Amino acid sequence: MTVHQSRTPMPPLSSLGMDPTRPLAPRLVILDLDGVVYRGAQPVDGAASLVAALHERGTIVRFATNNSMATRAAYLDRLASMGIGASIDEIVTSTAATIDHLREHLPKVRRVLVVGAAGMLEELREAGLEVTAAADAVGSDYDGGPLPDAYDAVIAGLDPGFDYRRLAAASATLRAGALFVATNADLRYPTRSGFMPGAGSIIAALEAASGVVPLVIGKPQPGIFRSILERAGIRPYEAIAIGDNPDADMVAAHRAGIGSILVLTGVTDEVAARELSGERRPDLVARDPFGVASLLGLTLR
Ligand SMILES: [Mg+2]
Repeated sequence: MTVHQSRTPMPPLSSLGMDPTRPLAPRLVILDLDGVVYRGAQPVDGAASLVAALHERGTIVRFATNNSMATRAAYLDRLASMGIGASIDEIVTSTAATIDHLREHLPKVRRVLVVGAAGMLEELREAGLEVTAAADAVGSDYDGGPLPDAYDAVIAGLDPGFDYRRLAAASATLRAGALFVATNADLRYPTRSGFMPGAGSIIAALEAASGVVPLVIGKPQPGIFRSILERAGIRPYEAIAIGDNPDADMVAAHRAGIGSILVLTGVTDEVAARELSGERRPDLVARDPFGVASLLGLTLR
């Protein structure tokens, strides 16, 4: 596997059906955020220029993150503070993709019980759903009976206030027949000093308590990428996904039928990249945004 950092020759891309002697020119580029555009609070060198060059060429850009906690507007502010020009339509969180999925495929879902952070509740309300926070669905004396209200679906993501009562309310709703939709299934996520439990850990508790298996939207499931393609009117072979995490980004790209570039600015180093196989193996590897630009035939300023 060749790792691309500047103008190095490109390997054949038979899976993308493209001419290997010419740079890739996808109509749509999906960029992961953490580990690709920034690392925590630190922008990745060259990422702002890469985004600017893609915009200049007229490529459709989407930033796709599994994080369900913050609003898209909050991400826009964060990118702007790093000198990255983006518009709100370009930001796709797992919450936004979940909303798209409900609109497109489950339009009858109106009343939802939500296990999630404040930003997620806000986005779901703004999308026109009738939202009840699991925290407010039952009183502190709840003892497992039917809930006072009925819900079409339980929507679950990362909820930093998750507790036994929310688990009880949501699992009772699921047992009563509500659909179970999860923003993402990351079991944990990295922090400055270690790891914290992710949405997947909460969803596992809900699944254990209810016996209901969720529909998961976020990476590595292909829902988030498919919803991006649907909304943009782009076919899978016209898109490329760029990410740092083989387990999430590369698997989701593979399942959505999208070509993939693994970039080594996040959780994967070159040694680990060489060992990847199956769904986790990217089509191409780039050391950094400059390497990505080279594969795409772009010159960064
Ligand atoms: Mg990442």
